[in-house]
Amino acid sequence: RPLPVPSPGRRRIGVMGGTFDPVHHGHLVAASEVASVFGLEEVVFVPTGRPWQKDHREVTDAEHRYLMTVVATASNPSFTVSRVDVDRPGPTYTVDTLRDLRATTGDAQLFFITGADALQQILGWKDADEVWDLAHFVGVTRPGHELAATGLPADRVSLLEIPALAISSTDCRERVARGDPVWYLVPDGVVQYIGKHRLYAPETAGAGAGS
Ligand code: ATP
Ligand code: MG
Repeated sequence: RPLPVPSPGRRRIGVMGGTFDPVHHGHLVAASEVASVFGLEEVVFVPTGRPWQKDHREVTDAEHRYLMTVVATASNPSFTVSRVDVDRPGPTYTVDTLRDLRATTGDAQLFFITGADALQQILGWKDADEVWDLAHFVGVTRPGHELAATGLPADRVSLLEIPALAISSTDCRERVARGDPVWYLVPDGVVQYIGKHRLYAPETAGAGAGS
């Protein structure tokens, strides 16, 4: 009986970076679609530590965002969650995320997944030149944002149309603060986690949980 043929080429691993405050179905569909189209064996969700893009508002404690991401991804065997950004002191820069992940993923090929809004910001990232050597970038469609790779190296960026989900974490936070439902916008376990820990509720929003 012939031995199973090892899959040719390098392992392909997706990286889904985000604040995940909270994680929602837009994030999960983006990761699932890119995994399917690019043949990724795993997608690593990486909640940010202190995200530098969001210094204008107080971001929810990293442990809550990390645990919500664990809850949201637990049922998918090919989704994992990394603590590299949560555990690194200081603001999160994607170049550091990718360097840290490469240290544990060997020679795997990394695919950094980003929505249309975040894709346009890459040029402003710290060490923007180096990120192109660390990962291939996949920009996905997001309602309300134009998907374009203007100014980005064509051989390092792919664009992908995914099912449109007009969901944002900002809207989810505002809904909770107003007492409106977030059922079916975020996974059931995340709805329950938010309620259990009273995240985004008006009485705990004094630190500026809204934006
Ligand atoms: P916030 O409103 O707090 O900025 P967000 O919904 O934009 O939250 P982030 O954690 O900022 O979520 O996003 C992480 C990544 O997921 C980014 O690359 C973003 O573009 C992408 N993304 C978020 N929501 C969607 C969506 N509905 N469809 C496609 N991509 C998305
Ligand atoms: Mg965002």
